[in-house]
This record gives sequence, C-alpha cells and structure tokens, in this order.
Amino acid sequence: MALVNEHFLKLPGSYLFSDIAKKVNTFRITHPKQEVIRLGIGDVTRPLPPACIEAMHRAVDEMTNASTFHGYGPEQGYDFLIEAIIKHDYAPRGIHFSPTEVFVNDGAKSDTGNIGDILRHDNSVGVTDPIYPVYIDSNVMCGRAGVLEEDGKWSNVTYMPCTAENNFVPEIPDKRIDIVYLCYPNNPTGTTLTKSQLKKWVDYALANDTLILFDAAYEAFIQEEDVPHSIYEIKGAKKCAIEFRSFSKTAGFTGVRCGYTVVPKELTAATLTGERIPLNRLWNRRQCTKFNGTSYITQRAAEAIYTPAGKQQIKENIDYYMNNARTMKEGLEAAGLKVYGGVNAPYIWLKAPNGIGSWRFFEQMLYEANVVGTPGVGFGPSGEGYIRLTAFGNHEDCVEAMRRIRKWLV
Ligand code: PLP
Repeated sequence: MALVNEHFLKLPGSYLFSDIAKKVNTFRITHPKQEVIRLGIGDVTRPLPPACIEAMHRAVDEMTNASTFHGYGPEQGYDFLIEAIIKHDYAPRGIHFSPTEVFVNDGAKSDTGNIGDILRHDNSVGVTDPIYPVYIDSNVMCGRAGVLEEDGKWSNVTYMPCTAENNFVPEIPDKRIDIVYLCYPNNPTGTTLTKSQLKKWVDYALANDTLILFDAAYEAFIQEEDVPHSIYEIKGAKKCAIEFRSFSKTAGFTGVRCGYTVVPKELTAATLTGERIPLNRLWNRRQCTKFNGTSYITQRAAEAIYTPAGKQQIKENIDYYMNNARTMKEGLEAAGLKVYGGVNAPYIWLKAPNGIGSWRFFEQMLYEANVVGTPGVGFGPSGEGYIRLTAFGNHEDCVEAMRRIRKWLV
C-alpha cells in the first residue's frame, strides 16, 4: 500500500484567488452593466521585448538543422547565459561569481519551493509576515513548518510582522532561527530595506549560523539609490545567503519561464556531527537529479535581455509599470488613503480606512468603485487591514480606477 505524504493534508486549501473570483462573479451577475477594473492581478500584461522575440526566432531556426540543433543542455544552464548574468547583474556592483555558482532555472517559484530539498526537515524557519505563500507551503509539505495553530500560524515558523507600525522593517529576532526567508523588494507590501537594514540581517545570520534565502524577484524595479539590488552587496553575505532572481516580471517571462539561483561556493551548512558541507555541491546534485535544464530557446531569449537593445526595452516596460504605480499611489493618496510601496516595486499596499478588515474593504471597493484588489490578510495574519494592488495592468485602467476611487471616497 502506498502511503501519502501526510504533511500535504495539513495544507489548508488555497482559496484566496478563487474566493476573489467568486465574489467578482457574483458582482458581475448582479450588476451586469458595471465594468470591473482588476488591479489584483499578479501577472504582467506587456508583451515580450522585441530583442527576446528575435533571439527566440533565431534559436528556433537553429533547431531546424542537425548541425545547430540543441537537445539536453547543462542542468545548470548554458554558459552564455550564466556569463551574461555574472557580467551584467553582479560585476558592475563589485560582486564576483564563478559560473558554477549560478544555476539557471524555470523561474523563482520552483527554486524557492525546492531549495528545502537540501535542508533537514527539522530546521526552524523564519518569515516576514505578510509573505509570498510559497515559502510557507513548501515547508509545510516536508513537515518543517510543524502544525497549524489556532492563530493561523505554523508552530515551527517564526513570523516577523511587517506593518505600518514598524515601517515594514522586520525586527531582528531575539532568538536564533536556522533558515530565514527575506524578499526585497517585497511582494506583497512593495516595501524595501535599505543597505544598513539588510546588513543587520546578514550580521544576524553570520552570528547565529542562519541561512538567509533572499528572493530578489523584483530587483529590476528598484529606483532609489540606497536600496540594495542583491544581498551580496553586503559584506559576508556569500557565507550566509542564497539569492533567487527571476526574469518573469523583469522582462515579461511569466509565460516563458526563466530565472536563476545563486549558491556561493563559500556557503556551508552543518551536518548533525558538525561537519560543514558546501550547499553549492548539494544544490548541484539536486538539480542534476531532478531538473533537466531550461530550454535552449528560452535561455537565448533571456540572454537577449542583457544586450543594449534588450536592456532599453525592458527599461521601457518597467518604466511603464512604475508609472502606473506612481499614478495609483498619487490617486489613492488624493482620495485620503494611506499607501505604502509602489516606489521600488510594482505593488501598492493600501491601508483600509477606519480600521476595517481586508475583506470588508475589498467588497466595498468592488461594489462602490468597481475596482478589484487582493485582500492583504490572504498573505498572512499581519496583512489584515490591508489590500494589495498591482501596477501590472494598462495605464488607462489605472487612471480610471483612481478616478472612481476618488469619486467614491472624496
Ligand atoms: N518570488 C516572488 C516574491 C514572487 O512574487 C513570484 C511571483 O509572483 C515569484 C517568486 C515567482 O516568480 P517566477 O515566475 O519566476 O516563478
């Protein structure tokens, strides 16, 4: 008899987006003439940069000829892409890696979810709250999160609240934690840490032998000077951190699927007997066993992001989304609302007025302004009382949504 992994049974259903869809549907049926604007979407809407399209076409043509055809590639990614990543994403910031420290993948979700494969099931885990749900759910699946308690928190997970009260800066824990997830710029709050704030985390990790899993999926949206693009800008981080990057939001690759993970050679973790093992070696072993590489065509498209034309084209897309974010932030503030994020990230974190809950405000905004957001409580207990709006829609919709919200509230 095959037995199931019972940890999966502990996972509560992921109802957030289906609950939203149901509520929007009900509204549509009862208000057929009203047009709803969706500002809750987490997917990009701008097409791929032409430089990537051209590179993909060329790669497809190579596949037509036996002499240029590509079958299985290296599990870690092709050198041409790894070298472009090192040269353009890290070297200009004074950070140097060898090609074997970069692992190309099919997006950051896979690796942020799978990295736990190389870590013992009984490590303690810390997360900022609210949070990208993959970090917690993937730990639940292997039993590392413990059991779900009445307050909606997992017993082996330390939650570090990020709210307006602490300016969305998570407090350094007063105890040691084995693994800490940090995501900056943050989804869902859109907030960032400065270099000195991030340094406190690196110092904590070095002092406590903590592994930081740093998700920098929104790095390309950073506009301000003092915001680090990589955790490796902080001295000592190569000894305590793995970094995840994604081309999804940077270059419209949500459907193409490509990203990468950096596991520095200096980074080690202990066995029960205290021996230090390089995590790079274990991750390489894991990838070679369970992953057969990202497609050649996709990696050629990703390489094209780093050409002068590609860089210019992705900047135009990012500027487009960040202009939406500015429009939304200014519009919501003009309507008397308190908003966070939206400066270095395509997410706006809106505080519901008068202390009302996330879901109540979600419904009011839907019924009164016909605008859809995502209730913040869906991202964790500290998200209660907030709504997430994204800047990934088209500009005209953002302008119209702000007009409606102002009309409703002012
Ligand atoms: N990390 C964060 C914080 C995200 O918000 C997302 C996607 O929404 C991902 C990772 C996953 O991105 P990818 O498309 O690269 O899998």
